[in-house]
Amino acid sequence: MFERAEGLVPGGVNSPVRAFGAVGGTPRFIASARGPYLTDADGNDYVDLICSWGPMILGHAHPDVVAAVRDAAGRGTSYGAPTPGEVELAEEIVARAPVEKVRLVNSGTEATMSAIRLARGFTSRPKIVKFAGCYHGHVDSLLAAAGSGVATFALPDTPGVTGATTADTIVLPYNDVAAVETAFDEHGHEIACVIAEAVPCNMGVVPPLNGFNALLKRLCERYGALLVLDEVLTGFRASRSGWYGIEGVAADLVTFGKVMGGGLPAAAFGGRAEVMDRLAPAGPVYQAGTLSGNPLATAAGLATLRGATDEVYAAIDRAAGIVSKAASEALAKEGVPHSLQNAGNLFSIFFTDGAVGDFAAAQRQNVKAYAAFFHAALDRGVYLPPSAYEVWFLSAAHDDEAIGRILDALPHAARAAA
Ligand code: PLP
Repeated sequence: MFERAEGLVPGGVNSPVRAFGAVGGTPRFIASARGPYLTDADGNDYVDLICSWGPMILGHAHPDVVAAVRDAAGRGTSYGAPTPGEVELAEEIVARAPVEKVRLVNSGTEATMSAIRLARGFTSRPKIVKFAGCYHGHVDSLLAAAGSGVATFALPDTPGVTGATTADTIVLPYNDVAAVETAFDEHGHEIACVIAEAVPCNMGVVPPLNGFNALLKRLCERYGALLVLDEVLTGFRASRSGWYGIEGVAADLVTFGKVMGGGLPAAAFGGRAEVMDRLAPAGPVYQAGTLSGNPLATAAGLATLRGATDEVYAAIDRAAGIVSKAASEALAKEGVPHSLQNAGNLFSIFFTDGAVGDFAAAQRQNVKAYAAFFHAALDRGVYLPPSAYEVWFLSAAHDDEAIGRILDALPHAARAAA
């Protein structure tokens, strides 16, 4: 299957993070999934620790989500006119997150790209600030020192993105208060927005220092810039209100994706009405999409968010606690240097000596040790992210049996990494 794919699709995958380039070997082709398990095209089962890179908090093929999508499909797949489902999904988001209005889009990339355009349109300023190691999708102006696949494959700042496109992007080290203050001192009145992952998860998990997001908010306020917190990954996963539900810093614009689409392509960005109403057709900043607010995607997203009860978050928190602790203990037992880092139920393990506070430290990982760890786990039926720079994603469907399979695999994986 991979050979066929390689002949047809660059690298054999439709998103680089799915490839095994950083760990070696052949990605599994998944034929079906249920609860916490994936089944590949050869009939092998795996406990899934990728969860579609975040969306599947209820597990795969959750009956309520499947029924909602089936039902929606029976009523037609897309109309190009407004639908009740869009209103209901927007209401669900506004009820949970610190936003008054939202615009639905199809991917996290579109959400951050559009939020930045809106911030520039609202402030009439050109510059944006981003942090090294944060990933906000493959938006041209944000592909500067980006995390996720760009970090995994140690790519240069991407060919095809011109210097002119990133000339207005100021890249700063994460958690570096002095660097942010200096950037505002020097360019404050040209800065349209600061964009940050609410918790950086795409260089591995690097929690914001206590008060860092609040400081960003204060500086933005002082200089008339907007704070954009990217909750595409953390939104509706870290808690029912995302990272906002844990830290409580309300950004001017917030981006969402992943969980809110329940495994179908849906994302959103939102903020105060005063800012959002600058978008066309209410205002002059253009943004559009043939499939935005697609009825199947809104149905899957609504079923997922409605199913994401307190018990669901408690189950994810519990599973994350057990798995992360066991992984760290197994590595410690084999003397493998590592740093377990978490922000709520989001965690990753850096194969480094000492804690990681920024991208430079994340890049000092022993990726070979991770590759050995990854393959030993895979051989025992546990599908980890094929990159040392990613979160290990769990769901409420990871029950004791699935967790038990992970716990059985971890000592072997740790031995292989030693
Ligand atoms: N922002 C963050 C924080 C992400 O983690 C991602 C994807 O991983 C994106 C934006 C881009 O989302 P998408 O892949 O849906 O375009």
